[in-house]
Amino acid sequence: MDVAGRVAVVTGGGAGIGAAIAGALVERGVRVVVTDIDADAVEEVAAGLDRRTPGAVAALSGDASSAAHIDAAVALAEERFGAVSLYFANAGIAGGPGLEATDEQWSAALDVNVLAHVRAARRLVPEWISRGEGYFVSTASAAGLLTQLGSATYSVTKHAAVGFAEWLAVTYGDQGIRVSCLCPMGVDTRLLRPGDIDDDSSAQLMQRAVESAGEVLTPEQVADDVMAGIADERFLILPHPEVLTMYRHKGSDYDR
Ligand code: NAD
Repeated sequence: MDVAGRVAVVTGGGAGIGAAIAGALVERGVRVVVTDIDADAVEEVAAGLDRRTPGAVAALSGDASSAAHIDAAVALAEERFGAVSLYFANAGIAGGPGLEATDEQWSAALDVNVLAHVRAARRLVPEWISRGEGYFVSTASAAGLLTQLGSATYSVTKHAAVGFAEWLAVTYGDQGIRVSCLCPMGVDTRLLRPGDIDDDSSAQLMQRAVESAGEVLTPEQVADDVMAGIADERFLILPHPEVLTMYRHKGSDYDR
């Protein structure tokens, strides 16, 4: 898909990968609604992009897993820029540790990492089918492909995100709906820094994996790969497939 001239919504765009994706989209001539639960962060990202490309970005704060927020983001995009044809379900949280994670932590991880994607697809896919096109990009994780990366809440919900993306692609592909699933491992963002997030265990597991793999990507490198993935309509976007292959071979040995 050629993204130039289209309209996108990016959730979790106040920092990290989402902010870099928003920047890469604007560079390619896309008009973007950037949303985040952190109002100051999303305003700052949008203001920075607006200085570079005036009029190309609008900011909205809110919870990416709320149907009302999804409706508001789509409505804002339509009002300012036109019909949305790209949706980046990118906001994500670690959730909690292993078996000690509480029901509240499981519910929060399921809401943000999975149900946010389901609710956004429910809002947009029917209208995309009638227009004959639409692109849904799910930010899952390498932890959604390999269980030894990330805590239980993180890895299990990211597996569900991969499953949902695959289901969408298989179910609606012949009606013009394109889906990509981004599965990075080790990107230099707050999520990888223990102490900065809601739960350290995922960050620590990911950090150990990344240290032994010896490779950390910048959000901008990942965003460039996402743009390349969209251009050639790749389903799985694996910013460093060689590292994933390595962990597949090593199995759970990596944390001994
Ligand atoms: P980040 O913490 O820098 O950015 C995440 C953003 O999402 C933050 O701005 C945060 O405020 C926002 N957010 C959190 N909960 C939200 C909610 N309910 N509604 C709206 N916004 C919310 O982390 P990141 O690494 O850029 O994470 C982006 C995505 O990439 C996540 O889905 C994450 O799981 C995934 N990911 C990250 C890595 C990594 O190594 N950093 C690896 C694989 C996957």
